[in-house]
Amino acid sequence: MRADGSFKKYISFLMALLFALILSGCKDPAVDPDDVVVIGGNTQAPATAVPTPDATPTPAPTDTPAPTDVLPNPGGPVIYLTFDDGPYKYTGEVLDILASYHIKATFFTIGDQIQKYPELAKRIAEEGHCLACHSQTHNMNSCYKSTDALVNELARWRQTVINAVGYDAGAYVFRFPGGTTNTTIGGRSGRDPYVAAANGAGYYVFDWNMGINDRWLAGNTQGLSKIDYFWWSYQDTYQTFKNTRPLILIIHDTEPVSVELLPRIIEDLIAKGFTFGTLNNEHNNYLM
Ligand SMILES: [Zn+2]
Repeated sequence: MRADGSFKKYISFLMALLFALILSGCKDPAVDPDDVVVIGGNTQAPATAVPTPDATPTPAPTDTPAPTDVLPNPGGPVIYLTFDDGPYKYTGEVLDILASYHIKATFFTIGDQIQKYPELAKRIAEEGHCLACHSQTHNMNSCYKSTDALVNELARWRQTVINAVGYDAGAYVFRFPGGTTNTTIGGRSGRDPYVAAANGAGYYVFDWNMGINDRWLAGNTQGLSKIDYFWWSYQDTYQTFKNTRPLILIIHDTEPVSVELLPRIIEDLIAKGFTFGTLNNEHNNYLM
């Protein structure tokens, strides 16, 4: 009997030990404070993967492009969105809008503005846009004093980019302040030596064809609101130039109404079947 009682006690002890072991196995693992994920202000432990028995393993995606590489209408006609005279206080909003559509653009930046907003110049480069040149000063008398003066503006702009971004993130893509038909260089009949000088410094030169007239309010002879006038100008220049290649749309990211209109323009272009490119991929001058 005595031996029997000890055996029962021994079995009970073993059962208790087993039960304690099972319990400790079910306990939540300790949460490392560094792994705590904060979502919407709530603190919660990271979700742990619970293996499902007999679940078919999900194959790793092999050919799904990263979201930043998704372009609307791949293979469709290309349009180049270009933003002039920044960086400025609205440029961050432009970058956010472009990111939300996963599209890239070309920013014709002024060196003096990059010195005021170096972080925005950095964002333009780091978010995969074309950081292009629109001179150091945008001062017509300084830029077009001579062809050497223009080349000097290009060199100063590039050094400004290097100082702001930390490396040479500048494209060899240039837009003349005022365009190549500006009266300071004598329009089409006076521009050739200046275009040749820019090409000699390694830059391709790009004017534009489509626009929203956000720098030509005198064209608003119908007395429309700014946003209606810009939208009308966009549609009007689209009808005129839709078959021109390259198709280049000029917008100023210094004008808040232009930024307000941007999503509507992008959605219209997507609906028309366009895809979006950057001008560092066009290896030719485009002069209007
Ligand atoms: Zn300009």
